[in-house]
Amino acid sequence: MVRSGQGLPQDLPDRDVSWDQPAPELQPGPRPNAAGLALPRLKALVAALGEPPFRAGQIYHGLYRMRWTSWAQFSNLSKALRARLEAEVALDWPLIRESAHSEDGSTKHAFLLADGALVEGVHMPYGKRTTLCLSSQVGCAMGCTFCATGLMGIKRNLTAGEIAGQVVTMLNEHGHGPDEAVNLVFMGMGEPLHNLDNLMEAFALLSDPAGLGISPKRVTLSTSGLVSGIQRLGALKPRPRLALSLNATTDEYRSRIMPVNRVWNLDALAAALAAFPLETGERITLEYVLLQGVTDSLEDGKRLAAFAQRFPSKVNLIPFNPHEGSGFEPPTEARIVELCGLLSAKGITVSVRRSRGQDVAGACGQLVRERRS
Ligand code: SF4
Repeated sequence: MVRSGQGLPQDLPDRDVSWDQPAPELQPGPRPNAAGLALPRLKALVAALGEPPFRAGQIYHGLYRMRWTSWAQFSNLSKALRARLEAEVALDWPLIRESAHSEDGSTKHAFLLADGALVEGVHMPYGKRTTLCLSSQVGCAMGCTFCATGLMGIKRNLTAGEIAGQVVTMLNEHGHGPDEAVNLVFMGMGEPLHNLDNLMEAFALLSDPAGLGISPKRVTLSTSGLVSGIQRLGALKPRPRLALSLNATTDEYRSRIMPVNRVWNLDALAAALAAFPLETGERITLEYVLLQGVTDSLEDGKRLAAFAQRFPSKVNLIPFNPHEGSGFEPPTEARIVELCGLLSAKGITVSVRRSRGQDVAGACGQLVRERRS
């Protein structure tokens, strides 16, 4: 199975991909769910209950500023209203079904959703700074062949509440205060640009100073290269920062491991990124997974540099995190050092990102996949 030194793998399956269709949405339950509703929707909810409009603001404050998870905690509401909400309105944040703690301090959580689906989020403390890795979909339509989530296919989009709820649940679980700075990265399960509407609804809740209060500059969305989504995102303001999961430097190989490249090749992708409107000082992050004997040659390094120089960017080299059945191996340390030197010499900012939680099924989709199998 190991393809070290074999060049292009010949036996990767053609996965069924369907990103050009909207992903299914969660079917509403018998009771409305307040968790994840924006203020206008909360106003409509309280109006339907015959309550005055200011109640919506109180509920919004409790949900997103206080991160309360049960109606009993809403001390800013009357006892009678709390009892009524308990009976008539759900407050379903994602629940932690299982957690795996890594020796490096990160914790991977499998979240149980209202319909029984499972998605993953990772809490990664780095000194004083914490990063939360979030999922955007149940499964994924993009079919990247190196990815455990890609094996599942697309099940459905996460709702705005399920996206923001991963943050609420992890911040509560790990005891973060309301004004602690955290970074959010959409690098978990799913292609975030395939669920952009719900993601932007969640982004508004996450970045609202009266809500979760996370700076938009601390939120990064990573795409596999869905150019139509990149163009849509570029027209929005405020918006998350953009990262691209690049992983290959030739169309031939990228089309094999990331089927989206068959529609938008590297040239089309670079053109879309060059046209993406950036703020002063903002750069697009290029994530490049190093697979031994497959994507880690010095020629790859030169092509990667040429791609990165077409727009303001920085490069994250990610040594592959092996998982059962992947068929790939991580690069040698010597090759990582050589590639860093090559990119730096061409004036490119480069960093090496070690996958956190390698000892706890760290790559996206692995915990859920192991749980399901
Ligand atoms: S790498 Fe990302 S975009 Fe590709 S299949 Fe996995 S989750 Fe989807």
